[in-house]
Amino acid sequence: MSHITVDVRLRPIRFAFLVRPDDRKRTLEIFKVNTCLWGGKFNPIVPCFRQVPGWWDRHGHKFETAIQITNGYLDMFEPDFLVEAEPGLADGLGFDPNRVLQLGHMLARDGQARSSGCGQSVLDLYRHRYEAEFQFVRRHKHDIIDVVPRQAAFRNFAAAVFGAFPSDEDLRYFGRAYEDAFVPERISLDGQVLAGLYEKRFTSALRIGHSKVDVDYHNRDDPTLFVLDATQPRDLVDFWNLRAVRPHILPIPIQWAEELSGFCKDFIARNFRPLPGNPNGVMMHAHVMFARSVPTAEIEPLYARHFRTGVPGADVRQDWYPSIWRPAPDFTVRETRPTLTAGSRTVDSEFSQDKPYVRIDCLDPDFAEKYGNSSRWANVVRLRDWTFKDQLATVFPCDYRAPKFPKFEPLAATLPTTEGLISLVQYKESRHSWRMATGTAAINEWLRTHVITATLSDAGRATSQIIQALGGFGGVRSFAHPAIVKLLNSITRRPISPSIQHQEFRNKLESPLKGDHWRSRNFETLVERGAVELGMKLKCSKCSSWSWYAIDRMGYRVNCALCLQEFGFPVVEPAKGAEWAYRLVGPFALPNYATGGYAAALSIRFFADVVGHGHDNNVAWSAGQELAFGQNDRIEADFILWYQRKVMFGNDYPTQLVFGEAKSFRGENAEERREIDDAFDQRDVDRMKRLATEFPGSILVFSTMKKPEELSDDEIARISKLSEWGREYVRERRQSRAPVIVLTANELFAPYSLRDAWGKLGGKHEEFANAGMIRAENLRVLADLTQQLYLNLPPYSEWLRAKWERRAVRRKARLAPPAA
Ligand SMILES: [Zn+2]
Repeated sequence: MSHITVDVRLRPIRFAFLVRPDDRKRTLEIFKVNTCLWGGKFNPIVPCFRQVPGWWDRHGHKFETAIQITNGYLDMFEPDFLVEAEPGLADGLGFDPNRVLQLGHMLARDGQARSSGCGQSVLDLYRHRYEAEFQFVRRHKHDIIDVVPRQAAFRNFAAAVFGAFPSDEDLRYFGRAYEDAFVPERISLDGQVLAGLYEKRFTSALRIGHSKVDVDYHNRDDPTLFVLDATQPRDLVDFWNLRAVRPHILPIPIQWAEELSGFCKDFIARNFRPLPGNPNGVMMHAHVMFARSVPTAEIEPLYARHFRTGVPGADVRQDWYPSIWRPAPDFTVRETRPTLTAGSRTVDSEFSQDKPYVRIDCLDPDFAEKYGNSSRWANVVRLRDWTFKDQLATVFPCDYRAPKFPKFEPLAATLPTTEGLISLVQYKESRHSWRMATGTAAINEWLRTHVITATLSDAGRATSQIIQALGGFGGVRSFAHPAIVKLLNSITRRPISPSIQHQEFRNKLESPLKGDHWRSRNFETLVERGAVELGMKLKCSKCSSWSWYAIDRMGYRVNCALCLQEFGFPVVEPAKGAEWAYRLVGPFALPNYATGGYAAALSIRFFADVVGHGHDNNVAWSAGQELAFGQNDRIEADFILWYQRKVMFGNDYPTQLVFGEAKSFRGENAEERREIDDAFDQRDVDRMKRLATEFPGSILVFSTMKKPEELSDDEIARISKLSEWGREYVRERRQSRAPVIVLTANELFAPYSLRDAWGKLGGKHEEFANAGMIRAENLRVLADLTQQLYLNLPPYSEWLRAKWERRAVRRKARLAPPAA
């Protein structure tokens, strides 16, 4: 019996509010709605505009279009629902219309049914906390506050920072419930009071709204004083979003800079201290960040007067707002949203092939009433497959917008995201039964949603059988050596039956790996897992030829496979007429390197086990598929993968789609050379290009068992040309078109990890292996590295720079006046 580990995590629903960033009225309403939603403080506010406004970048740079900015925010937060502040803002974003809501419908109005409204309201939470804590301690002092600004101009500011309740008559009950449950201290806010509040602990309505939620920000961030114009909605939106992704953000209105100056300078001096637990003397700094509304000319005078402490090394001024809408380049640490957890559970689920169901028991907040509106909270599910021979798909293409896949149940939707599989829970104590699929079945089903039919080819079947027979990629490692693959192939070419004397087999398997203690069990693996079958070779007394016999087909009389006559078992001199021998079985007996199955299996193993040590990545795979795009339009791929880099605590990276073409060795003799078409020819390259055109952004892999020096000049030229095509930057997707990876014997036969294999090769390989910053498990990085190693292309960054320079020269030439 196999088992699957199911991690379930409970968190509030994540709503992304779409609004024009200068809309004062509606941003205030958004702050208020979020005060009434459990976990509302962490819901992003996504600025929407038709044209990127001038204030967006202080220096007037236009790095992206308006729609790219909106999409960038969405990708950063992967919302469960969109909330339009005005109808139509979600148009063109490709979001499932059933998950687009209206701001005015978010909260249930007084007298409306329980089923109206969206998300989990704070009322259940207030009631629960009141019953559990506050009804007994009301007489004691607490630090819960209700903040109302002295001047109306600061209403938006106070709502963004502390929270505020709706004032509509039929929504007043939220504010009253807060009042009744906690009897908060009423704060009349001005600059002085704000400075006082920052000095002590306080609990605002916005903070109570995320009770029971653990927030993990994943990485250390220096505390930030965010200097903003309190009357500018766009600054408040920026503040809101920054606080949703980073800890320790304190807003400082320029209007109150005078009053807050003392506090700020003290804060900066106090925070200039060694980073706790860091032995290298790294210091913490409080940053003073200036919001986009603060005019550039005013920054220095403001800073000099109110913020600069003069303590050597302590002062850090930042004039730019972090571009949280922009994907991080591959060489930097990416910033992710925090992980919110209101409960988690890990269960091992029994699993069998004939009943491929995994049970998911949903987690609910303990404070939630039994009945309410639908989709009040979310469960994040992560699956880990332990024993099912690396066949089961537990990774899926990420799509939080309008996924058609995966469909584990006929009715319930699941959103595949970098966080995991999101299940929007409808009722308390609900339970799911998810139907799981193998990689091949899952990938085919997904292709069907793209109107593509896929059929397994013979080569694909052989690859699957090899991986399955050997019990997954751990077993595939048993033939990850050129001598072993060649040995297995040579046996298939033996006359009569693909068999080999037992001791010869053992010796030939073990001798290439003499002294390699960790791979000393290759022989046992291949024998025990059934790549070969033990039997006897008997010499026919009639025609003197040798044939192989299975153990259960032997007797005192046997039939010769060649002359078909019956002869007697050599009982008198068994040493001369009989010997124990292994025969290759199933896919292993197929000629031409198991019809390419070894190369494909080793290639898939590379992505599953070698490139990231098998820990920090996960693949779902399918081998040898013929894809039908139309009636007479078929393209074959030797393997298709979903590849995802896993992160233990935090969000995974987006899943990547990988198409691969795998080649075996050049044939060993003249006859084989004719049979085995081992070179990457133009058809292979065209096929891969076509796949990348159909699936923009996918990764293309050319893998061969050959050594790099055995690649012909023509092959290198062909693949280089495609690689340069793939290097082109696609603005719309904000990444290169189709990274091309080249794998050779160095990678396919790597015994353990890529780092280890490259480290032993010396030269450039070793250099790449030892550079700690280089993350080869990032396939875009791996593409760049292997293109340098095997195609002699310049590093991607250099290539891009040269291209820009050439373009600049051309432009200049065009603008220059014609020579006299
Ligand atoms: Zn015979």
